[in-house]
Amino acid sequence: MRSILVTGGSRGIGRAVVRAFAEAGDRLAIHHRASADLAEALRADLPGSGHVVVSGDVSDPEAVRSFVDAAAEALGGLDVVVNNAAVFPRHPIMETSYEEWQAAWQHTLAVNLLGPANVAWCAARHLRRGGRIVNVSSRGAFRGEPEQPGYGASKAGLNALTQSLALALGPLGIAVTAVAPGFVETDMTNEHLKSPRGDEIRAQSPFNRVAQPEEIAAAVRYLASPEAEWASGTIVDLNGASYLR
Ligand code: NAP
Repeated sequence: MRSILVTGGSRGIGRAVVRAFAEAGDRLAIHHRASADLAEALRADLPGSGHVVVSGDVSDPEAVRSFVDAAAEALGGLDVVVNNAAVFPRHPIMETSYEEWQAAWQHTLAVNLLGPANVAWCAARHLRRGGRIVNVSSRGAFRGEPEQPGYGASKAGLNALTQSLALALGPLGIAVTAVAPGFVETDMTNEHLKSPRGDEIRAQSPFNRVAQPEEIAAAVRYLASPEAEWASGTIVDLNGASYLR
């Protein structure tokens, strides 16, 4: 049984990741920021025992230190950390004021890039040999995000962080990887998928659909497995051939 921390674990992709690990017999720390009820309901509903809920804003370095330490203490160390929490704010360059532009960049980078970097720093002090860090990146890092440029850049930065940490933590037996999903049906994308653009988004893939969170969770589970040490440094595309690089 492994000890696993998933940030943003109460809903969307994080929730599916939490479920996948619990169903495999692992013990989870479900992190949330503002979804205490959802996180607690999920914890109570998971198979197995000893799962805990931890909370904090990932853009706050002290909150990160405190929830990572709390997870490690409650679970007796850490084997896997999944950096999943993120935001996707719209701030197109020609439609935002300079002040809005500043705010959107600062918030997006603080949550999506500095957050995972700080989670990794704190978690690296608890991860055992054979440990895994899996970062949830995005197709947007490669394809560009014209309406959410801070998001695209944050995920490109997260990919570079993944590669740097794979090199830095390999000598400790810790593998670091990323998944880069295209559109997945969650709260983050519901509005887009239900809009008139929904059909165009689904048609980006030759399968004419978007992903379900469980499809991303399956890849995260593999990358976190003991068998996946040699995948360290990789960024796995999960976009139904909607963007080939
Ligand atoms: P979601 O349903 O919008 O959930 C976002 C999660 O992030 C929530 O659990 C939320 O926690 C947490 N979060 C947001 N801001 C936070 C903060 N400041 N501090 C701590 N936690 C925070 O998103 P999702 O679609 O499942 O996305 C999960 C991951 O997949 C993200 O990294 C996203 O970039 C990536 N991704 C998603 C898609 C997609 O199409 N959905 C595509 C590519 C990549 P609370 O609920 O507690 O606020």
